[in-house]
Amino acid sequence: MKNIKEITPKELGALKAITFDIDGVIIPTGTELRENVDGTELYMKSKQLSRQFLENLKELKKYLKINFSSGRNLLYLKSLVNEIFDESVFLQAENGNLNWFGGEVTHPSYSVSYFQKLKLIREQIKKMIAQGDKRIRGFEPKMFILTLHSDQMEEIPNLVREVDPEGELYCLWTNEGYDVGSKTMSKGRGIEKLAQHLHIHPKEIMTTGNNYNDAEMLQVGTGVTVQPDRVKAEYFIEYQPGQLGGEVLTEFLLEYYRRREGKT
Ligand SMILES: [Mg+2]
Repeated sequence: MKNIKEITPKELGALKAITFDIDGVIIPTGTELRENVDGTELYMKSKQLSRQFLENLKELKKYLKINFSSGRNLLYLKSLVNEIFDESVFLQAENGNLNWFGGEVTHPSYSVSYFQKLKLIREQIKKMIAQGDKRIRGFEPKMFILTLHSDQMEEIPNLVREVDPEGELYCLWTNEGYDVGSKTMSKGRGIEKLAQHLHIHPKEIMTTGNNYNDAEMLQVGTGVTVQPDRVKAEYFIEYQPGQLGGEVLTEFLLEYYRRREGKT
C-alpha cells in the first residue's frame, strides 16, 4: 500500500468520481440502536456530516461526481446528504443493493428463498432476544440485507452457516453488529454498476472505506483505505486522532484542484 501523498497528478487528473463510505470515514462510528422485545419500538441515534465537510463537498462537486456507498438504508443516506443532493450525487445503500442514480432507484432481483433465509435468521435471533440475551440490541430497518446491532458473538455467524449451508450469504462484523446479505452483491459490484451508468472505468472512481464490507469496492475502484490494519487498498491515508479519513482526503483532493486552477 502507498501513502495517498504518492499519487501522481496524472492519476488524480484521471479521476471522474469519488465514493465515500460513511461510518468511520466521514462520520464518527457509534450509532446507538435499541429495539424492544416485540419490535414495536425502535430508538436510533446517529451523527451528521460536519458543516466544513458539506462546504468542501460543494466545492469538490465542481470536479468530481460524488457517490456515497454504505451498509445503511437509503432513507438515511438521502437525509444525510439532502443539502448537496442533485444530479451529480449518487447513493448506494445496503452494501450495493439499492442504487439511486439520476432520480431512479434500482435493486437486484432475489429469489423468495433468499428472503426466507433472512427471515429464519431474524426469527432465531428474536428468540435469543426474548430469552433475555442482552448482547443483542435490535435490527436496523433494511430491505435487502439483515442488519443486527449486537456485541461480537460467535452465535451469529454460526446461525448464518446453519440456516445457509449452501454458503449464499455473507455475515460481516460491522463494529456495531452484523450485516447478513447475498454474496452476489457487494459495494464492489455497486461500483461496477456506477461505472457502467457513468460510462467510465471503475478505476476512474476513487473509493474509500474502513471495514470488511468495503474490501471489494476498494479493489474495484482506486481505493483509499482509512483503516489499513483492517482493510487493504492501493492507497492509505494518514490522519490524527479525532480527524476523519474521508474529510482529510477531501481536503487533499481540493488542494490538488485549487493548485491546478492556480488558486493557491
Ligand atoms: Mg465504514
